[in-house]
This record gives sequence, structure tokens and C-alpha cells, in this order.
Amino acid sequence: MQYRPFGKTGKKLSALGVGTMRFKLGEENGFENAVQLTLEAVKQGVNYIDTSFGYLGGQAEKIAGEAVKRAGKEVYVTVKSNGLTDVSADACYKRICDSLKNMGLPKAHFFILWTVLNYDDFMKMTLPGAAYDGAVRAKKEGLIDHICMSAHASPENIIKIMRTGKIEGLTISYSVLTPHIFEPVLQTAAELGIGLVTMNSLGGGLIPQNPGLFSFVKQDGDESAAAAALSWSYAHPQITTVLSGMTTLDELNENLRAFSKSENSAESEKRIAEVNKSFSDITGFCTGCGYCAGCPAGIDIAVLMQAFNAIKFTGGIMDYRRKDERLLENIRICYRLNMISSFMPPDTKNPCLQCGECESKCTQHLPIIKRIAEIYKRFDESAYSEKHIMDRLRNIFSVNYEKIAFWSAGLYTKKVFSYFQKLFPNQKSDFFIFDKNEKLWGTVCDGIRVENPSKLLEIKPNIVVISNYIYSEEIYRDIKQYENSGVRIVKIHTGNDVPWLF
Ligand code: SF4
Ligand code: SF4
Repeated sequence: MQYRPFGKTGKKLSALGVGTMRFKLGEENGFENAVQLTLEAVKQGVNYIDTSFGYLGGQAEKIAGEAVKRAGKEVYVTVKSNGLTDVSADACYKRICDSLKNMGLPKAHFFILWTVLNYDDFMKMTLPGAAYDGAVRAKKEGLIDHICMSAHASPENIIKIMRTGKIEGLTISYSVLTPHIFEPVLQTAAELGIGLVTMNSLGGGLIPQNPGLFSFVKQDGDESAAAAALSWSYAHPQITTVLSGMTTLDELNENLRAFSKSENSAESEKRIAEVNKSFSDITGFCTGCGYCAGCPAGIDIAVLMQAFNAIKFTGGIMDYRRKDERLLENIRICYRLNMISSFMPPDTKNPCLQCGECESKCTQHLPIIKRIAEIYKRFDESAYSEKHIMDRLRNIFSVNYEKIAFWSAGLYTKKVFSYFQKLFPNQKSDFFIFDKNEKLWGTVCDGIRVENPSKLLEIKPNIVVISNYIYSEEIYRDIKQYENSGVRIVKIHTGNDVPWLF
């Protein structure tokens, strides 16, 4: 195993890190198998486990904790808090304490402010009394060693956040699919001494599922496109650790072999250069080189074109329980957009002026104008814009309801509710959230209490809005009987929609 210093933290992390959200807990002995898999990784030299309260319903933390306790040597582990849901310092501090309790550990080495979407959100999270202060308190008390962040924000936003000096480490999505776009992030991290962990090195599963398309990643001696993609990430000296969510011993061993041979800097540079060159040889692919920058309409062309690449892939990302092929393509485009920069357009009117400047500069000679028109058409048909969310809510709430309920608790409802508040800032209704997860009953989400669904008829809301994408149909089937008692039940999503949050 190879190790590199993690920024200025004084810690050296292994090249491979264990991601804990893909364990197969449904199988017989699933929990113990996951612990054993993690322990085997540790035995082979892995010393970094990335986990979160949000993975596998809290089981991932328990697995990580168990592995750390049984490891018999120092293994670094994470705790996470999302500053959008754990808004206050107290909520963030409590989250850290709850996670440590769940893992059965006295401390975690790395706290990660989880899934920061942009610079403005980060600044809100670091206001006095907000989430960041909770992490500072935990650090003072020795519950954590370092404050880090994971981001799904644009490279510009990530760089601005790094320059605030508030984070010691950073986890970003980085793969052969987005090399050039995130290069400035890598350079800035190195310049500022901020440690870098990368996730989604296999493009969210796209690389192993499209081995033919990605065969160009393989160099002499590489076992597979997936193994080569991991080696390619680690070939960047700014990256300390490459995360991989493994489910079997075979996958672990393949990953370990990818990191077993140490490359010197000339070999690494050659690997990066050859992969980048082959990537640019693929007809019709945007490489993210950024030569098209400077659009007079303010369009971030490289980001849109990189997302459009996803149309050429199959499988990979989760299917969100949808089957229609065109819808799945739309989901893939929007998913990639979110991975790259959390972009959602204000509306679906195509902003392109068709001046043609970008096409004359494009190194790949892409039909950018046509592709942008296609992307905006797809945004429209799949309701992917802020205007669509607002219009949906305007229609649903054309009547003034006394009691309004959302189903279910979490970030999705939070996002929908934030648009509701923008639309109806003076609404005096009583709000409720219902959720089947009993652990959430009595907790507060965005100032609204989460209730046991058995209290639905007692509370008797006028309307229940199903603000959930994946399980929308199932939830509706479960609760439609309440319509007979006069409760209006509305699904916020219709059949062609893509998720509004990934
Ligand atoms: S053609 Fe459209 S996308 Fe390209 S530079 Fe002009 S306005 Fe921007
Ligand atoms: S110039 Fe072409 S290949 Fe390069 S980022 Fe722009 S659209 Fe992509």
C-alpha cells in the first residue's frame, strides 16, 4: 500500500480508502461480511474509512466502528453532518456525538461538512452559531481532529471555499470523466496544503459498466478499465486517497492490486497524458478542456457538454426505480450536472444566442449549439428547472390550506419546502412532516416536527404532498386510503420528471 500526507494534518493516508455505502446488507451475514471485508482492507494497509450516518440507514457507521475496534491498529474514520439539515452548531455537534455513539468510538479523526453545494451555502454554514461552530466545539473537545468538507459544487465555488482557510481536507468527485474541469481544484488544494480525497473515481459505476467505451483508460499491465481508472486518479500527486465502495473480496483485491505498484512521477505523468489524449480522441465527447469559455450569454458550456457526455453511457448510476430509456438518459444528464456543479437552470428557455463563438473554439468540434438546445428541451420535458418547481407548487397550493403535510423527512422535502417558503412567505398554515422511519419521529426538519404516520387522521391535514422522488408511487399506494377521509394527497412529481436533488 502506498501512503501520502493528507494536506497539513500531519496524517498519512493510504492510497485506497474504503467507501461504506455499497455493502450488501440484505444478504445472509451481510453485516459481519461487511466488517470482515473492511478488516481485510485494513490488514492490507488501508487506513481510511469514509462513512456517514446517512449510509445504509446508520448500519455503515456501525460496520466502520466495529472494524476500527477490531483492527488492532490505527485506522482513520469520518463523521459527517449536512449543514443544510443540521443547521445550528448544536445540531451539528449532536450529530457528531450521535455518530460516535453509533460507531462505539470515542473520536473520529475527520469531520466532514457533507455535500456542500455552493459557496453561499458554505458561508451560511460558517456563520456564528451555524453548523461549522458545532464542529469547532467537537474539535476543541477532542471528538474530532480535523474539519473537512465534501463538495458537489462548481470548481470556482470549491476554490473560493478553500481560500476561506476553514477546511483542512476536501472530498470531491473526480474521475476520467471530468479531468480538466477539476484540475484547478487540484492545483489550489496543493498550493494551500489542503488534503484531497476523491470519490466517484469510477464515474458512479459508469466505467465498469461501459468497459468498451472506457477501454482507453487501460494502460499496459492494468487489469481492467475500473482498476485503471483508480490508478489514473492516484497518478495525480495532489490526491491523497481514492475512495472505492467495495462489496466483495474480489473487488477489494482488484482495487488493492491497482494500488500495489508504485509509479514514479514520470510514469504517472505519462499515464495521465495518454488517458487524456485518448479521451480527446473519442468522437463527440467533451473533454472539459474549457477552450469554449467566455460565452456572451453566460452559459457554462463545458459543464453542460460534460453532462451531455452521459447520453453515451448505459447503466452506472442508480436507476431511481424508473425504466423509460429516454427518462433514464435525462436522469443521467442531470445527475452528471449535479456531480459537476449542482446546476439547475432558473427556467427552460434556451439562453444560447447562437453566436457560434464556442463552436469555433471547441477542440472537439462539437455541435455545441445543437446540444445546448437538446439539453434545454430535455430539462423542459423532465421538469428540471426552478420554474418547474415553483409552477408545481403554485398549482398544488392554489387553495389556502390550514394544515399542510409533507411526506417524507429529509433533504428532498427541505428543498421543496424552501421553494414553498419563497413562493408563499406569509403563509400562516400549520406544517407537518410524516415519515415511516420511527427513528425520525419527534425530530425536527426545517422547523417542522416529524410525525408518526399513525397520527395522520388525528392531525388530519388538508393536504399531504409526497415530496419524494424514488418512492413516490409506493408512498401514494400506502396512503391513498386517507383520501376517503377528505385528505388531499398529491405527488409532487409526475411520470417524466427527473429528481430535483441527487
Ligand atoms: S453559441 Fe451559444 S453557447 Fe456558444 S458562445 Fe454563443 S451564446 Fe454561448
Ligand atoms: S472546448 Fe469543446 S471539448 Fe473543450 S470543454 Fe468546451 S465543449 Fe468541451
